[in-house]
Amino acid sequence: MQKFYEDQYLKEIKTTIAGVFVENDQNCVQVADNIFYPRGGGQKGDKGILTIEGVNYDVIGTTKDPYNENGILLIMAEKIPEENKGQEVLCKLNWAFRNKQMRLHTAVHLHHCLLEKTAGEKLPVPKVSDIQDGFAFNRYESNKITQDLIEKTNQIFCEAIAVGAEVRTYSDPEKEGFRWWECLGFKIPCGGTHVKNIAEIGEVEIKYNEKKGTPTINIKLK
Ligand SMILES: [Zn+2]
Repeated sequence: MQKFYEDQYLKEIKTTIAGVFVENDQNCVQVADNIFYPRGGGQKGDKGILTIEGVNYDVIGTTKDPYNENGILLIMAEKIPEENKGQEVLCKLNWAFRNKQMRLHTAVHLHHCLLEKTAGEKLPVPKVSDIQDGFAFNRYESNKITQDLIEKTNQIFCEAIAVGAEVRTYSDPEKEGFRWWECLGFKIPCGGTHVKNIAEIGEVEIKYNEKKGTPTINIKLK
C-alpha cells in the first residue's frame, strides 16, 4: 500500500519485503507498505535506506512497477539476498532530499497560480515544470508570460510565502488514482508530494530568462 499520500511527512515505517528481483539490469525490491515516492509529475524519486536484520541497504531511486498498476519498485545500490523476501524491513527516507523536493515542487505550483492571479486570467500551463539540482523551474511557451508579469508575481509570491497558507492535497472522489492540490483558492491536478503550508517553502531566489519565446522561471531555495 502506498503510504506517502496518507501522510507526506512519514519519514520511516516498518513493513515486509514483498519481492526481490532484477528489472532492466536494476536490483529492485517491492515492499508491502511504501513511503518512497516514485519519480514523476516533475518530482524526483525518493532515496533512503532499507534495514533488514541490522543490515543497511541503500535505496538509490524508485520507479513504477511494470507488473502492478499502482505498485512502486525501490531501486537498490546492491542486490538484496532473495531469502529476505517476507522479512521485516525498516524503510527510512532521505528526508532532507524529499523535503527539498516537496518545497520546490509546491513552489512551482504556487508561482503559476499567482501568475494567473496577477494576470487576472487563466494562463497556459507550463510546458515543462521540473526540478533540477537545487532549483525548480516552470518553462512556458506563451507570449502572455511577460517579464513585467513575472516581476509583479515574484513580489506577491514572496509575500504569500512569508505569510503562509494551508496546502490541501486529496484524492478525487470520482476519479480513482487522480489527486488535487489546493491552496489560496487555486486548484491544480497533481499526484506529487507537497508541503502542508507554503510558509515551509521559506526564502527563495527567483531568476527569469527567455529563449526563443519560451520564458523560464527558476526558483531556488535560499
Ligand atoms: Zn504537485
